[in-house]
Amino acid sequence: QTEAGWQWDKAVCRFCGTGCGIMVATKGGKIVATKGDPDAPVNRGLNCVKGYFNGKIMYGADRLTQPLLRMKDGKFDKKGQFVPVSWDKAFEIMTEKFMAAYKEKGPHGIGLFGSGQWTVPEGYVAAKLWKAGFRSNNIDPNARHCMASAVAAFMQTFGIDEPAGNYDDIEHTDTAVLWGANMAEMHPILWSRITNRRLTHKNMVVVNLSTYANMSSDIADIEIVFRPSGDLAIQNYIAREIVKRNAVNWDFVNKHAVFATGPYDIGYGFRPAKADQFASAKEMEVVKNEQAHVIDKWEAIAQRKQEGEVVKQTNILGAKPAADWAISFEDFARALEPYDADFTTAVAKGDPDESDASFKAKLQKLADLYCDPKRKVVSYWTMGFNQHQRGTWVNEQCYMNHLLVGKQSMPGNGAFSLTGQPSACGTAREVGTFSHRLPADMVVNNKKHRDITEKIWKLPANTLNPAIGSHFVKIMRDLEDGTIKWAMVQVNNPWQNTANLNHWIKGAREMDNFIVCCDAYPTVSAKVADLVLPAAMIYEKWGFYGNAERRTQCWRQQVSPPGQAKGDLWILLEMAKRIKLKDVWGEQKVPGLKEAGFEDGKLPSVLDAAKAMGYDPEMSLYDALFATKENKANFKWPDAVAKGHGNHIAETLKDGWFPEKAMFEEYRKFGTGHGHDLAPFDVYYDDKVRGLKWPVVQKDGKWVETPWRFNEQYDPYCKKGSGIDFYGNNGKALVMGDLDKPGDGSKKVDISGRAKIYFRPYASPVEQPDKEFNLWLCTGRVLEHWHSGSMTRRVPELHRAVPAAVCWMHPKDAESRGLKRNDLVWVESRRGKVKVRIETGGRNKVPRGLVYVPWFDEGVLINKVTLDSTCPISKETDFKKCSVKVYKA
Ligand code: SF4
Repeated sequence: QTEAGWQWDKAVCRFCGTGCGIMVATKGGKIVATKGDPDAPVNRGLNCVKGYFNGKIMYGADRLTQPLLRMKDGKFDKKGQFVPVSWDKAFEIMTEKFMAAYKEKGPHGIGLFGSGQWTVPEGYVAAKLWKAGFRSNNIDPNARHCMASAVAAFMQTFGIDEPAGNYDDIEHTDTAVLWGANMAEMHPILWSRITNRRLTHKNMVVVNLSTYANMSSDIADIEIVFRPSGDLAIQNYIAREIVKRNAVNWDFVNKHAVFATGPYDIGYGFRPAKADQFASAKEMEVVKNEQAHVIDKWEAIAQRKQEGEVVKQTNILGAKPAADWAISFEDFARALEPYDADFTTAVAKGDPDESDASFKAKLQKLADLYCDPKRKVVSYWTMGFNQHQRGTWVNEQCYMNHLLVGKQSMPGNGAFSLTGQPSACGTAREVGTFSHRLPADMVVNNKKHRDITEKIWKLPANTLNPAIGSHFVKIMRDLEDGTIKWAMVQVNNPWQNTANLNHWIKGAREMDNFIVCCDAYPTVSAKVADLVLPAAMIYEKWGFYGNAERRTQCWRQQVSPPGQAKGDLWILLEMAKRIKLKDVWGEQKVPGLKEAGFEDGKLPSVLDAAKAMGYDPEMSLYDALFATKENKANFKWPDAVAKGHGNHIAETLKDGWFPEKAMFEEYRKFGTGHGHDLAPFDVYYDDKVRGLKWPVVQKDGKWVETPWRFNEQYDPYCKKGSGIDFYGNNGKALVMGDLDKPGDGSKKVDISGRAKIYFRPYASPVEQPDKEFNLWLCTGRVLEHWHSGSMTRRVPELHRAVPAAVCWMHPKDAESRGLKRNDLVWVESRRGKVKVRIETGGRNKVPRGLVYVPWFDEGVLINKVTLDSTCPISKETDFKKCSVKVYKA
């Protein structure tokens, strides 16, 4: 285990949902090297350019090492300068401000921004502290910006979250179709596996669908550049072709699926596009006629005060969409009828320099791939689908096509949603750190789910708040309008990553609220905060991440955090020490409770019931929920699994318990027995184990993972003899209706074991280029930088590679504006503007009419320009389209 005096240990990359294994070397209390783990099945010894720098991100010169509070004349002052303070002082002011907000506003007056970069125990403790301790559901991870649409579509289609397949599909398939997923930059290791398959398997075909040509185009056999939102029409075109060509796999569909649709008008939350915003008169005519039932009923909306006529995000939280209903195949086929090649080309062709005939020919080739019964197909997507005003729908459409041809849940066949963050699956989704979720796919507004959770958490009945909390963008709006007065940020940079930023920066700095930001570096969010807490980074703590193929993996603390920096888990637990049960478990008024059908809009006091259960109201949340007698007795630090590694959290809590292990074992109880099973803590920490894909069940004394879900050959939860079993929908039924409405309930369809094949229509983007704002803006990432760049920009090699964001523009668009490469320009929307340099070449080739600006650069805060419109179902923001003008600065 030693090499030149280095101590190597297994770990996990913290930079993307791929979840590559890393070997980390330490010497003298420092990380001295990292390399790809040769035993890791995901990456087989390789890392991408970011992955190789997991160690170096921890040693930036401006690392935060002590708490900083805004002060003037020795006292906290919102307008003051940051001054170093002790942890005690930090907790004192933080708790005082917290209690003031809580007393004034109740559980809705506080908020927590988390992330899919929280470790599993961190996310679990955060969720438990907020939901059980503070009785507040105002907690949301930045995964809301990332894959909330995928979650909503999984739940609606399969009744259970997360992909059926795994990365080995790459080596089993003949076709990789990328839908808005630039894997070459965003999932480079998976891309290297696809490239290898493309070069070594003669039948392999790669298709890249995107709104601009990118690095994934390099090995694509078919490249389709589509107009923003055109993917909705292309999916329906494929489905129509499957039906027309008689390529429906009826054996599969009859046994395993049901046709369905849902209300089109609920929760759109946007104004309809104006007539002159359609791509053509034909688009307007076809869309309006075909979807008269869709777009003539717009929700009453609460508009933001913004210039222009187009935007207008509604507060749709609490809107209750009517349930889906089943439809006949005939109705389903009728709904697809308008999506012929002409209509699809009219709404979806994205490159004005491409001929209609060329676009149609590519559409046909794409349909050929799905229709060919002998060809295996995997469809991949990430932000292109998820960050979409119709994100849930377009995810569901992808399942529609895989289910229609029976290419789902089999090696080499399936619709596979990739994730952006290392634990978007493990922490955000599985732990349930969303404002509506509880662990293991349960939700706060379901009484049964609350009962189960209260039982596992040993809470008095009715402790949990049944009103869905504010989602990510809504927490920002609540801070802006004074509904939330105290907020905390962990592992996240919301004042750089939320669309329509000017509003939120103003909300943070000008409203009477208190914002706590835990971070390792002085990010934009730290700069707008009132209190900054120095956070430990990846290998300075113990952790678990869950990747996009359901693989749960772990690492140990390798080095100590610098100065006074502490892990997020420690910060949460120390905060819990300072709040008593009597402070938070009394009667509470909560907005949204009445609508949730809960007594007089009030959460009842549970203090008496708590007393009867043996809790003392004077007890801290720390003692009541976390460092319980049982946890201290059963999970002692140091544990055998520590093997000489430190744990600054366990050590500085000074209680002798092992919080990560205790919390993981408690969390495991939620998933066991219904398809989300995890192995015990120690199994993952075994030196030989490189993570396991859940459900993990014991067989012949061994813990066995599940490579493909819903497939009897691999998944222990499938009914014997079923072949394929979509058991997430067991016990559920749909009302039978027709295309336009549900029936009267007299006819119901049992959907046990079946997935839903949804019809979802095309819908125009809510803001489109017009005479003034005459270009589409798409935003995203670059290979070299992680998210807001706060870590990777501190690695000299990565910073030198891509030092600043640029605006990719078509050379002709530049020329027609009197611009050339490297000119400094303003990119301006109705919401704000940023200065940036123009790039007309390089890795991205954008079509005329569209510009692309990455968001990693805090010097180019492109989210001042973007539109905060969300998918009405998932509440995920669409960062991929809005309209801008570009002119010389
Ligand atoms: Fe692997 Fe993603 Fe890390 Fe690159 S960033 S090494 S692809 S996990």
